[in-house]
Amino acid sequence: AFDVLIVGGGPAGSAAAVYAARKGIDTGIAVERMGGQVNDTLSIENYISVLETDGPKFGAALEAQVRHYGVDIMSQQRAVELIPAAQPGGLVGVRMENGGVLQSRSVILSTGARWRNVNVPGEQEYKNKGVAYCPHCDGPLFKGKHVAVIGGGNSGVEAAIDLAGVVAHVTLIEFADQLKADAVLVAKLNSLPNVTVNVNAQTTEITGDGNKVDGLRFKDRVSGAEHTVALEGVFVQIGLVPNTEWLKGTVELSRFGEIVVDAKGHTNVPGVFGAGDCTTVPYKQIVIAAGDGAKAALSAFDYLIRTPLV
Ligand code: FAD
Repeated sequence: AFDVLIVGGGPAGSAAAVYAARKGIDTGIAVERMGGQVNDTLSIENYISVLETDGPKFGAALEAQVRHYGVDIMSQQRAVELIPAAQPGGLVGVRMENGGVLQSRSVILSTGARWRNVNVPGEQEYKNKGVAYCPHCDGPLFKGKHVAVIGGGNSGVEAAIDLAGVVAHVTLIEFADQLKADAVLVAKLNSLPNVTVNVNAQTTEITGDGNKVDGLRFKDRVSGAEHTVALEGVFVQIGLVPNTEWLKGTVELSRFGEIVVDAKGHTNVPGVFGAGDCTTVPYKQIVIAAGDGAKAALSAFDYLIRTPLV
C-alpha cells in the first residue's frame, strides 16, 4: 500500500506528488494522461516566473519532476471508484477501470475538469486558433480585436466584462431569452460601450479561413433569421465540468459536481484530500492548481503523522 496515492496528474496532482515524495513517504500517482489540461494549451504566459512556455513543454516538465523524485507513475489508468477506509487510519481503496484496486493510507483527488463544448462546426477545427475557453489565459492574445463570448451565465458575462477591457469589441451570444448572470454583472455589462448582447441566439457555426477563426454564425430563435458576425476570437463559456462523476455518493460534491474541500484540502472522507480544478477552490488556473496540490500533500502528510495505522 502507498502512504499517499494521487489520482490525476495535471498541475495539482504533479505538485502533490513532488511535495509528498520529498517527505520520503511512499507516493504513487494513477493518471489517465500526465499533464492534464495543459497538454491542450498552446501558450502559457501567466505561470509565475515563466515568461512564456507552451502546454506540451510544461506538461513534460511536470512529468520529469515527478519522475525525478521516484514517484510510482501508473499512466493510462482511469479511476472508477473510491472505497473509503472502514475506520480512520485504515486503508483507502481506489478501483481502476482495469479492475485492480490500489490501496493507500491517504488519497489525493486531483482529476481536474473539462470545458463544456458548444458542439458546432468549426469549434474543434479552430481550437487554439481563435476558439478559446479561458479569458484569463487567452484574453490578451485578442488585444484590439473583435471577439464573441458564447454563454450569458455568470462566467460568460464575467468573461465579456473582462474581455471588453482588453479587446476592441465583444459580442455576447445567449441561447435563452435573457442573461442568467447576477443582476449586478448584467448592469455592469450593459454599461460598457463596446459590448453587443444577443439573446435568443443559437450559435450554428464558427467559421474560419482554414488557419484561424474569421466569424460566427447564429440564428435568431424568435425570427429565425441567420446572422454572421466577422470576428477573430470566440470564447466558449457554457460551463466547466469537474471530472468527479466517479465520486458521486462517496465524497461530498457541490451542486456543480466539485469536490467540497476546506482551506487545507480535506474532503468529508477521512484520509481523502482534494486539489485543483476538480474541487470547490475558486479560480481554475495552473498556478492555483499547483499551489493547491502542494497544500493537499502537506495536509496528507500531517494526517499520516497524526493518525496511527489500523
Ligand atoms: P487537470 O489539468 O485537468 O488534470 C487532471 C488530471 O486528472 C489529468 O492528468 C487527467 O488525465 C486525470 N484524470 C481525470 N480523471 C481521471 C480518472 N478518473 N482517473 C485517473 N486520472 C484522471 N491555466 C492557466 O493558468 N494559464 C493558461 O494559459 C491556461 N490555458 C488553458 C488553455 C486551455 C485550452 C485549457 C483547457 C485550460 C487552460 N488553463 C490555463 C487552465 C489550466 O489548464 C487548469 O486550471 C489546470 O490544468 C488544472 O489543473 P488540475 O491538475 O487541477 O487538473
